[in-house]
Amino acid sequence: MASSRTNLTAAFVAGLLSVTGVVGLTFWTVRNASVYRDIGRYAGTEADLAASLILDAGEGVQSIIGPDTTAEVLQVTPRLGAMFNSFPGYVIVVDRKGNVLFSSSSVQRLDSLDSALLTDQLSNISSGGAAGVLALKDAGVQVLFVARTVSGTSTALGRVVVGAATDEATALPRVYIYALIGFVLPIIGLAGWGAWATLGLNSERIAKITHDVAAISDGRSLHRRLSVEKAGQEFEQLVETLNAMIGRLESSFLGLRRFTADASHELKTPLAVLRADVERAMSEAAQSERLVALEEALHETTRMADLVESLLTLARADEGRFDIHREPIALKPLVEDVYETALILGEASGVAVNLPFTADVTVMGDRTRLRQLFLNLITNAIKYTPAGGKVDIGLGLHPDNVTFAVRDTGIGIAAADVPYIFERFWRADRVRSRMSERGGFGLGLAISQWIAQAHGGTLTASSRLGRGSLFTVTLPLPVQVQNA
Ligand code: ADP
Repeated sequence: MASSRTNLTAAFVAGLLSVTGVVGLTFWTVRNASVYRDIGRYAGTEADLAASLILDAGEGVQSIIGPDTTAEVLQVTPRLGAMFNSFPGYVIVVDRKGNVLFSSSSVQRLDSLDSALLTDQLSNISSGGAAGVLALKDAGVQVLFVARTVSGTSTALGRVVVGAATDEATALPRVYIYALIGFVLPIIGLAGWGAWATLGLNSERIAKITHDVAAISDGRSLHRRLSVEKAGQEFEQLVETLNAMIGRLESSFLGLRRFTADASHELKTPLAVLRADVERAMSEAAQSERLVALEEALHETTRMADLVESLLTLARADEGRFDIHREPIALKPLVEDVYETALILGEASGVAVNLPFTADVTVMGDRTRLRQLFLNLITNAIKYTPAGGKVDIGLGLHPDNVTFAVRDTGIGIAAADVPYIFERFWRADRVRSRMSERGGFGLGLAISQWIAQAHGGTLTASSRLGRGSLFTVTLPLPVQVQNA
């Protein structure tokens, strides 16, 4: 397969040759038409001159006695004949009946076939009309004939027919060939070479980029970037776009690695605990000890099941395989329902939960997922608020959207940590949260954010360490269909 460099250069040179051909042909056609016109005019002038010479010479004919007959025949006088012979083209004088009275020496030199053709066509060459072109095969020329009536004569003289060769109109002038060989073709060659050289540079740059990208994309060199050389706007843009893509690949590779490592780590600990519990249950003699070990094993199994469930949710969300069953959902009853649950959870933790305001509002959404989102935020708020604290829940209707907000007076999050709280497995204090009864996996907010985004909304957080946090879900209002 030819390289694009070869193809483009060939196309470029072919294009230049075609343009030269078309321009040359057009020029050639226009020039030929003009040369034909000039030859026609020239032959016409010669014919006019011949006709007026005949008239000036006192009708220019003489009556003589023919050699083998006694009848008088008309003849062009020798003086006039000599004049006509000196004309560059073909001169024929015919009488009114169409008989040839005089043929110039050039006509006499024609071979019998050309001569017969000329005689045959003579009557078709009309006086004053359009010029007729005859191809004289033996003479190898095309001759343009014009005729003039010798007017004002009282004799039997008819017409003068004058022919001029049209070689000049049909032959390619040498200057054209010289111009083509000496000027046009070298310029096309030079342009082709220029295109080849420029495309060669581009090919080298593309080959270098391909080579560099191949070296980077093996997975271990994603930290490297392509160098931006001064190689023209398109190449710089290409390199910048590729660098941005490699940057995104690098962060998603890192994210994937971190995620896999975190997930394995999170599963490793409960599995170790589970194993220890089972061993303890098998070895302990006392029934009560066994039950304690089994209870702890059950607790770890539940935790692991929760983790796997969360991981599955996120994996499906990443793949876009999670169907959100959208239907009109009245949010007020849903929020009141989660508030009931929050009251029970809050009571157990010594946290006061309030629902100061709600609004009658309907959104398009998935009831189960929205409930999961609201409960995640409320349980977090209660979980990270010490006893005696307060959690406020609010559902607000605004002109453009609906907000569900959870504010707590809990431990809060350091300003430097806030940007990371939606990342998977992120926890403010890993060790403590694993050991404490809070014990989350750091996946809840990632899932909550996905649910909000899958509903076309957002989840935002603001927090101050030691003062409390505010989590706000913003959901779009359903499109109102106006009934006419
Ligand atoms: P977890 O299951 O650990 O709670 P989340 O994804 O829900 O996981 O939360 C991630 C981390 O964000 C938590 O470990 C906690 O450090 C912090 N966090 C979430 N909500 C709150 C809150 N209301 N107050 C303080 N910290 C919070």
